[in-house]
Amino acid sequence: YLDLRGIRKMFGETRVLDQVNLQIREGELVTLLGPSGCGKSTLLRCIAGLTEIDEGSIILDNKNIGKLPPRNREVGMVFQSYALFPNLTVKENIEYGMKMRGASKEARRKRSDELLAVVDLEEKRDSYPQQLSGGQQQRVALARSLAIQPKVLLLDEPLSALDAKIRKSLRTEIRDIQQRFNMTTIFVTHDQEEALMMSDRVCVMNQGRIVQEGTPETLYTRPKTEFVARFMGSYN
Ligand code: ATP
Ligand code: MG
Repeated sequence: YLDLRGIRKMFGETRVLDQVNLQIREGELVTLLGPSGCGKSTLLRCIAGLTEIDEGSIILDNKNIGKLPPRNREVGMVFQSYALFPNLTVKENIEYGMKMRGASKEARRKRSDELLAVVDLEEKRDSYPQQLSGGQQQRVALARSLAIQPKVLLLDEPLSALDAKIRKSLRTEIRDIQQRFNMTTIFVTHDQEEALMMSDRVCVMNQGRIVQEGTPETLYTRPKTEFVARFMGSYN
């Protein structure tokens, strides 16, 4: 499982992450919810190794991965903007990370076939990203992040660029896939309803700190502060 201990991060004079402690069980989906600028994306980037932490440790299955290069962390990430390689086909995008890690052509093909079926895009395998809809691109991004068989999946507002209808169906699809793979997942969203629906546990963040965590029900019915209540939409 994933254990974040005392994570701190400064950008210049600004303390962006301040003593973040969070334990996530294997197969659990934890949602980070909080106002713009509270440090959600920074926390994910730190776990993925795209941003260095100043203090603290990131323990994954009893190993401190906090100083490893991104490709050795066994972490998959999906961004808000689809961030697919425009000059690679769907299949090549999915296989990219495996290729970088030296997987054989045969192993790559097997895995990408499997994942194309999971995200239901078999007929698009040879298309390029710009030939796909936003929802399809985000499903490719999801397949790509799963291709390396990560131990942790990080989803940074993967649905926010999509229109409401696609967002709703993809939300269910992501949850299904996450449960099927028993994937330890951190999901960032601005959308309270999404957080309530999708997660095993919700963490509300403010100014670089986790201010309350608990089951969706607990946060909704027993918010500790007015801030959390407002954020969960239970305040009136
Ligand atoms: P949003 O909901 O808008 O995506 P967020 O919670 O993901 O917000 P972050 O992107 O983690 O917020 O940013 C947290 C703070 O860190 C913000 O004040 C932001 O301006 C600052 N920040 C993020 N990245 C950098 C950087 N590379 N250099 C300097 N400051 C940064
Ligand atoms: Mg963000």
